[in-house]
Order: sequence, then C-alpha cells, then structure tokens
Amino acid sequence: MREGQLTFFGGVGKSGGVQVLYGKGVQAVLFDFGVEHSSLLFPKQLTLYEPVGATPGRELRQYLLGGMTAPLLQLYDPEQIKGLDAAKVRRAWGDSDFPLYERISLFIGHMHTDHMAVLPYANPDIPVYMNRDAHSLYRGMVAGGHAPDTAARIMACEDLSVIDFGDFTMQIVEMDHNATGSAGIIIDDGDHKIAYTGDWRRQGKHPERIDRFIELCRDKRIDLLITEGTRLPADPSAQPSYQMTEDELLARYSTIVGEADGLVYLQMSPRDLERMANMIAIAVEKGREVVMEASHAVIWHTANREGLHILEGHPALGADIRVVDATVTNKMTSPYKTISIEELAERKNNYVYFFKFPDLAHMIELETLSDLPGRSHFIQSDYSVKLDHSDVAKYLNTFGIIGHSLCNGGHAHPDAIADMIERIAPKAVITLHSRHPRSQNTRGIHAYYPEKGETVTVASILGSAISTGSR
Ligand SMILES: [Zn+2]
Ligand SMILES: [Zn+2]
Repeated sequence: MREGQLTFFGGVGKSGGVQVLYGKGVQAVLFDFGVEHSSLLFPKQLTLYEPVGATPGRELRQYLLGGMTAPLLQLYDPEQIKGLDAAKVRRAWGDSDFPLYERISLFIGHMHTDHMAVLPYANPDIPVYMNRDAHSLYRGMVAGGHAPDTAARIMACEDLSVIDFGDFTMQIVEMDHNATGSAGIIIDDGDHKIAYTGDWRRQGKHPERIDRFIELCRDKRIDLLITEGTRLPADPSAQPSYQMTEDELLARYSTIVGEADGLVYLQMSPRDLERMANMIAIAVEKGREVVMEASHAVIWHTANREGLHILEGHPALGADIRVVDATVTNKMTSPYKTISIEELAERKNNYVYFFKFPDLAHMIELETLSDLPGRSHFIQSDYSVKLDHSDVAKYLNTFGIIGHSLCNGGHAHPDAIADMIERIAPKAVITLHSRHPRSQNTRGIHAYYPEKGETVTVASILGSAISTGSR
C-alpha cells in the first residue's frame, strides 16, 4: 500500500494559493482550493475595478492551462472542462506524473479568494469539507453575488470534528484569521501526524484558539507542521512591524465614530463578519444607525440566517439595518428596508455607512445635498483598496472627507510563527503562503522547502530532518 505523501500544487514560494495534496493508500485530500495572489489571473471581485479576470465561462480552462490549479481533472466539474485536452493541462506542469488516487476529497480552510477561488468549479461528486461558519459565510457570499455557487457536495463540519478516510483521519480545528470560520487541520495516518495552520494570526480577537491549536499539536506529537508565512520579509534580519490587536482597532473605530460630525463611510471586508458585527454594535452604541451597501447586507443577513457560531448572542444581531436603495440591483432582494441617498444625506451625522469601493460616486450626492455642517469621515479597515488609491484620494480631497486607515491584517508576525514552531516542536516544518519562506526562524527545527509540483513522502521529509542533525 502506498505510504503517506504530499504533493505541492500551490502556495510554494508565493503568497496565497495553498494547494497541497496529502494521500495514503487509495484516498487523498487536497487542502485549500484557491489561486496564488500573483498568478496570471485573479478571480474578479465585486469590490475591485479591474483585476485581470478570467473570461466568463472559461475560468476553469484558463486556471488549468495557466498552471494555477492542480492538474487532477477528477477534481473538476466535467461540464466545465468538456473537450479540454488533459495532455495540454499536464504540459503546464512540465509533463510531470502525479500520484493517482481513487478518491480525492477537498478541504477549504477559509473563504478568502486565494483559498477558495476554484470551489465553484469543483466536481459535483467530490465532498468538500469546511468549518460550519465558513460555510455560512460562503452561502452569504453566493447570495450577495461575491462568489459563484458550487455544485460540489459541501460538508459543513463542527469545530474539532474528525473525518475518517479509512487510511487516515482529518480533524478540523478553528483558528483565528480575518475571514469568518477559518480553520486548520490535523491529519493522522497512524504512522505520522501532520498539522496545517491555514492562514492565522495572534493579533485577532481569539489568540486563545491559536494556543488551543498549539496544545492539540503538542498532545498529538505532531511530526510535520505546515504553516503560513505571509509576513516573512525578504531580508531575514528585518523586523516587520507589530500590528495592533483587534481590541485596539475597535477602540480606535469607536473613538472616530463617537467624535465624527458628518457621515462615517466604512469600507471593510464583508468576509470578516465578526469585525462587521463589532463595528455594527459600536455604531449603535455611539447613537448611530447602520446603513449598508446591498451586497454587504445580503452577506450579513444570509450568513446569520445560515447560522454563525461565532456570533451567537452578539448584540449586533438585533441591530436595525437599512440598505442604500441605489445599491440594490435588479438581481437581488434587499433583506432590510431601504433608505434613499437623499434621506441619508439629510441626516448624515446619524449614520455609519458600510460602503463598497466602486460606489465612490455616492459621495457626490451625499456630500453636496446635505445642509449640515461638519466633515465626513472615511474609514478603510483591512480592505483591498487603500486610502492612497488615486480615485479614493481624489474623492476625499474634493469633499474634504477625513480618511482613516484601521488595519491589523490577518497574518501572523514572524515572531509568532517562530514561537508556534518552538512550542509545537515538530520533527520538521514547512512554510507555505510566503514569498520568503527561508526567512523564517524555525528555532532549530528542521525546515523543509518543497518545490512546486514536487511529490515527497512524509517519511522522507522527516528522514531529511534526522540526516541533517535536527531533532
Ligand atoms: Zn491566504
Ligand atoms: Zn486568508
């Protein structure tokens, strides 16, 4: 029987796009199913003007022929790859041979595009495992038009549930990252134990989850740790700045909202529903009403209707929300009562507006119709479009809007990664989701640097640790 082995299809020496296949015997699991940030294409996002997007209807062909997703055709919806020449797909990978498995399942750690972009094109027969809250968020993203739906069989799993694949098990472990429901996994095949963190951070609301992951890994005596290393600098001696904690970020937000005279525009990621909930609750606490761009409102409403463990009992759930009518497209139904731009302008000192970047034109009306004195504020909070974006800057300047940047990122500081490695004390560590994996201080633990497209047995990774004299 074939022993446990890993094949690296993505996330090697690049930020995002982790696609690693673990297989033993006849079964395998591919963890994460996105595309790397710097690849030829990046999935279209409603919140951006023009990333280089795939051609509608030909997305999967372009990802496959561009070498941006694993060339294992059994993973994909046969309808989407009709007539596609498998040999041409393999050519993108230097005609390499990859291990064959009777059955491959998918695990998706979280709902950032670099981890789930290919999900809409998955084979309907393939089970896709994900944490329950991540699934609720995905349903919201589909309803809000932020991601296409999938025909694949999604298995929404509770935190810490264990899936038995026969030759190995996979436990789902909730982490902390700026996408709701983020999780890592622990694979146990009887011979070896492998832990994968997914994207994670310590500066979020739940550093205790990171500690719990570390404890679980220690208890299970993890052999191989696979972590993200997004923030590793090119120069290993450089020290990236520390980021503020989520509590500090929310406190700053609270001050801005409390002191603002005019309208507060808030641009934040609707994939971080816990931050969204906290920002809604703070707005209400400060005496402001919440209005939203329609797709944000649909994501919020749908994900909560599906059920989010993380927000059980949260005060934001009872908040009164209105949707800006100009943002409701004819494809959607607003889940809340609407409000017109005129009404919003008239009492602009009364609202926090959960805003979506391409809607800058709203400012022309909102800032000219009102007779109220007082300047408006624009908060960019871990959004992909920053304050120095030329269009954003032009609008803020034109209308004298005060800009604020409230960001703490979703990724671990290199010191936090080093600390995790030391505390888990695996036999070997692999850093993915990083342009500079060799900058990681592994505190004496053997580091293995896979190549894109490489297949390697777990035993030989661990064996290389022993032969180089690491523990
Ligand atoms: Zn990522
Ligand atoms: Zn992420």
